[in-house]
Amino acid sequence: MDEWTGTVPQRKLGYQGPAVSCVCFGSLAISPLQGRVTAREGTEIFQYAVERGINWVDTAEIYHNYEQLAPVLRKYPEVRVVTKSYAVTAAEIKASVEKARKALERDTLDFFLLHEQESALTLKGHQAAWEELLELKERGIVRWIGISTHAAAGVRGGALLPGIDVIHPLLNYRGLGIIDGALPDMLAAIQFAAELRIGMYAMKVFGGGHLAQDPALAVRFVQSVHGVQAMALGMSSKDEVDYNLLLVNRRRIPEALRRKVLHRQRKLVIADWCQGCGRCVESCPQKALRLEGAVVKVREEECILCGYCGHACPHFCLKIV
Ligand code: SF4
Ligand code: SF4
Repeated sequence: MDEWTGTVPQRKLGYQGPAVSCVCFGSLAISPLQGRVTAREGTEIFQYAVERGINWVDTAEIYHNYEQLAPVLRKYPEVRVVTKSYAVTAAEIKASVEKARKALERDTLDFFLLHEQESALTLKGHQAAWEELLELKERGIVRWIGISTHAAAGVRGGALLPGIDVIHPLLNYRGLGIIDGALPDMLAAIQFAAELRIGMYAMKVFGGGHLAQDPALAVRFVQSVHGVQAMALGMSSKDEVDYNLLLVNRRRIPEALRRKVLHRQRKLVIADWCQGCGRCVESCPQKALRLEGAVVKVREEECILCGYCGHACPHFCLKIV
């Protein structure tokens, strides 16, 4: 029996947040940014995850996959959605929220986060957007608000924002992808936010695939961090849904299922029609891309396979395969 059966444990997200399954469906993995599955396959995988007890999904404006999620959200109105945007001004965040409400077919959005906040300084630059989010929360258009971040300083800055409910930090046992320090810095920042009873769910638990050799260790580490109640895991096949649910619930994983999931080593591929324009270089939060002569190259050890650079390329050169 390869499939997950059972009840997925629920965790309360911080002091203010709702109870959610201990795994959040990370929808970047089914989005066009990563290009691993078709839109329709992605919808089916998401539905499969919901049917197995995952009751929330993580997305973002940049993922361009609201339409992919909407059919499942229509069918399962109890499933909660987290989305995020890079909005800086009040007008931009209003537009982002409206876009999400329309495309996700939800009058009230569950969670809305400011995407990739690096520090208190970055947050200061987004102050107008944050104030507007507070207003939208007050009006009942958004229920819970927060930030996502790859930086320890982002967690610390976010924890001090007035009215914040949730932080989505990058966390894995080797600290891969932390942009402003090492694992101890991130753990100290998470501890700080935990003392303020802010809800937290981790991302990049497998370090963008670099820690996939020992996934049980990767998951257990995050589960052991005080103050982190859940984790978003990317899943781009039904097998991966079952695999992840067995893994986080510390159940035995059948060898056949393990082989099917673990043999999918991924990497960022740069097409040979790259024009060397450099637009993607700035879009990489990990600084993993650099121009070499007339083409861009990736430092694989720095790349966490987030797929964000794919969006920046006007020639569709960047793909995770
Ligand atoms: S190179 Fe692309 S996929 Fe890799 S970390 Fe940078 S933005 Fe993400
Ligand atoms: S944006 Fe596209 S074309 Fe420009 S350097 Fe990057 S991969 Fe090459």
